[in-house]
Amino acid sequence: MNNAKKSLRAMKFGGTSVGDAPRIRKVVEIVREAARTSDLVVVVSALSGVTNKLIEAATQAEAGNRDAVEMIFEELRDRHQAVAGALIHSVSVRSHINQKVEQIFCEGERLCEGTALLRELTLRAHDSISSLGERLSAPLVAAALAECGVKSEAIEATELIVTDSCHGAADPKMDATRWHCESRLRPLLRKGIVPVVTGFMGATVDGVPTTLGRGGSDYSATILGAALDADAVIIWTDVDGLMTADPRLVPGASTIPEISYREAAELAHFGAKVLHPKTLRAVTQCGIPLWIRNTFAPERPGTRITPSGPSIDGGVKGLTAITDVALITVGGPGIAGVPDVLGRTFATTAAVQASVLLISQSSSQNDICLVVSSAVAERTVEALRREFAQDLAHEKVEHITLDPTVAIVTVVGKNMRGSRTVGRTFAALGREHLNIIAIAQGSSECNISFVVTQQDVRAALETTHREFQLGEPDSLALPVKSIGVDPAAWHYESGERTANAD
Ligand code: ADP
Ligand code: ASP
Ligand code: MG
Repeated sequence: MNNAKKSLRAMKFGGTSVGDAPRIRKVVEIVREAARTSDLVVVVSALSGVTNKLIEAATQAEAGNRDAVEMIFEELRDRHQAVAGALIHSVSVRSHINQKVEQIFCEGERLCEGTALLRELTLRAHDSISSLGERLSAPLVAAALAECGVKSEAIEATELIVTDSCHGAADPKMDATRWHCESRLRPLLRKGIVPVVTGFMGATVDGVPTTLGRGGSDYSATILGAALDADAVIIWTDVDGLMTADPRLVPGASTIPEISYREAAELAHFGAKVLHPKTLRAVTQCGIPLWIRNTFAPERPGTRITPSGPSIDGGVKGLTAITDVALITVGGPGIAGVPDVLGRTFATTAAVQASVLLISQSSSQNDICLVVSSAVAERTVEALRREFAQDLAHEKVEHITLDPTVAIVTVVGKNMRGSRTVGRTFAALGREHLNIIAIAQGSSECNISFVVTQQDVRAALETTHREFQLGEPDSLALPVKSIGVDPAAWHYESGERTANAD
């Protein structure tokens, strides 16, 4: 008998990868092949578009629109039943799965009914409703695996990932999570069973369901990988890996073969939707390699993300953009005389829970520019106007304005200090007559962010991409594309795309 310890991999499949029955069959093929040589823990997202629909149902319930809620649930029921019908041929297994799916839908309807009665959508209810999609997809994927001879069991992450109670953006408590993973998952792995775990969700110590934030299934995968001390975590998605820019915005973008945790985290933080911004946090201490690979082209190598990146390294790695942001300017010639203007500004943004994505201050101190996500922009400006009301009255502060038409573009790379990155970036943008509204450079020299109008984002990305020759060799000769703006195709929300989210 071969007693060699098998390696353990955590594999996460995103919404598009499990979007319908043919795609789930591809997932099954990948898992079946990998299970020959490794123990596996599979993490799944909801079927593409389902989380958005569930959130819409919750919002309609809050407004008391019961008919709209009913219609959404009907559509989701039909979709899940059709997928079950196409994937599962055993009558008894299919009826078992349909029963399970129905039970989850009934729970969702009860939650929406409660919300409609109270006309209040609590953060807790929001999490319970929005995570129903993962609870529906996991049993479907587990049954599809079993149907193809891979022993598997669907498990809800509420049994595994213990989080704080920060609904909508929960963080794991790793000691407790490790304990649950050891006691619940390890015995299955020893028996050769592949656990199929719901992404996106966890539960507090008291068992109250929480979510990790939109796109959070990536984070679920690294949390479980770290908790089980896995040999690798693989994020299977709909593109070839972590790319030099969002391929929907820069068609010539190329796959980055290897990159450091730090750079990948910067790209994720500044809008590369392919990775949830917190994904790398869970593996930072243990150094587990993370891969991003394409479910629809599994023969391609993808991107390897390691603690320190490739041995020969440096220079610009990739570009990102966040468009769903707004620029707030606090300005006026007398501002230098206002006591503790920066401290008061930050205290105010903190009080309204607006995280500042970028800040820059002119040397004369005439202007302070802040970029915050659009969702919090109005309330931040109102709070700043209240804070500086006296100074505005005495014209020490002349204006506090809001510009919602801007975007942040970020250039990410290691050791950019000696590579004239700033100069080259701005010279290239200047040649294309692209106007830069504000600039900020991280002291880590790992990123340079600048603010442009949303209209200019595509051109700014393409220009910078060409300047640093980030594309495939044959795409470098392409001219800068015309500045066609189609917000529906590339709408981001603080780093998360919302147009075809989940
Ligand atoms: P999943 O459903 O698998 O979680 P997501 O839609 O969340 O997938 O993320 C994948 C998408 O991220 C890609 O389709 C791509 O458009 C977008 N994306 C944005 N920036 C990047 C980047 N730098 N590299 C790769 N993909 C990116
Ligand atoms: N389904 C969740 C979302 O759409 C989580 C994920 O897909 O990662 O945000
Ligand atoms: Mg995602």
